[in-house]
Amino acid sequence: MTSTIASIAQQSGRDRPRVNLLGLSRRQMEQFFLDLGEKKFRAQQVLKWIHHAGVTDIEEMTNLGKALRDKLVDIAEVRPPEIVSQHDSGDGTRKWAIAVDGGGMIESVLIPEGGRATLCVSSQVGCSLDCSFCSTGKQGFQRDLSAAEIIGQVWLAIKSYDAFQSGNGRIVTNVVMMGMGEPLLNFDNVVAAMDLMLEDLAYGISKRRVTLSTSGVVPALDRLAEVSEVSLAVSLHAPNDELRNQLVPINRKYPIAVLLESCRNYIDAQRDNKRVVTVEYTLIAGINDQREHARELAVLLRDFPCKINLIPFNTFDQSDYQRPSGNAVSRFWQVLVDAGYIVTVRTTRGDDINAACGQLVGQVVDRTRRSERYRAAAETQVIEVG
Ligand code: SAH
Ligand code: SF4
Repeated sequence: MTSTIASIAQQSGRDRPRVNLLGLSRRQMEQFFLDLGEKKFRAQQVLKWIHHAGVTDIEEMTNLGKALRDKLVDIAEVRPPEIVSQHDSGDGTRKWAIAVDGGGMIESVLIPEGGRATLCVSSQVGCSLDCSFCSTGKQGFQRDLSAAEIIGQVWLAIKSYDAFQSGNGRIVTNVVMMGMGEPLLNFDNVVAAMDLMLEDLAYGISKRRVTLSTSGVVPALDRLAEVSEVSLAVSLHAPNDELRNQLVPINRKYPIAVLLESCRNYIDAQRDNKRVVTVEYTLIAGINDQREHARELAVLLRDFPCKINLIPFNTFDQSDYQRPSGNAVSRFWQVLVDAGYIVTVRTTRGDDINAACGQLVGQVVDRTRRSERYRAAAETQVIEVG
């Protein structure tokens, strides 16, 4: 694939689009330079300029030599997506609305907590899977993000704190692929971007601290097991197929038993045998939050290596669903805890940034107090099993 990128770029001259080096994984970058007739180690230099130093101007990459810089300027560029607005909440959460090519808007959020900061990253503009409780799904699908647009969210977060300059690129300690979109439906770009998150020449984040969340695209999850070691979260939301078919339509194609089997295979494929899956369960009043649902869930997940993250439903305009009461959440939580599960839950947030949600990118962004969801996701990473 990369050789195509480089050769197209070489033929293209000045009139054609340049290759965006921001989104090339280490392997792709090495291939890019080999295809240009350059030494492989150039990839290391360029990766460090982009992801350690935050440099976008190829002319500033002084250790490349003038001739190579001239060649690169002709065919390549380093182009992050564009921040449209930034919003800081009183509790330190920072949220960006980001414009991507073609008129789309995405959102990413950085949630500091203790010594860590979790960035929630989007993978698509909109989503095609149409889960009944999700406002991203209600928008429909616009397009996949490129690898540059995905890793660009990490780059922009660090840039916005001037943390490249201060040498503190590790301002983002954790990443969750829980923003807009279904990451496994944008497989190649998500994998390339996650490779950069883990790559020491880029962000060097531990594989346990990068989490991909999926609603259950089983064939892609099986493929992921072969190429990635990131942590896995699965959006279950129901203890049986009948209910899950209503909430998460892709369940009709890949039912719960098939999905859990695929998750287990993913965990088994990891070299590190202490991994568990985070089971995400959005609690919706009167729909999936009853004691019987919790009991059924406890039975379903028996012997499944997991921890459970309960997310009280965040309301939005086009939805009739309701958020459950605090009591209903505690009751659900208690059943699972009594059954021996590690369960995290976020009941209230209501901070200022949630109020601002939706104002950032108008109609495009959902109004589901997304940062609350992210915070819950961040919380799941606090509990490191093993
Ligand atoms: N498409 C992926 C990742 C993005 S959604 C997935 O579905 O897993 C991230 C998490 O937020 C998922 O668990 C999703 O089910 C949950 N979510 C979506 N809308 C929500 C809402 N309105 N309230 C609470 N959680 C929601
Ligand atoms: Fe897509 Fe995830 Fe929303 Fe379902 S919950 S519509 S998979 S973003």
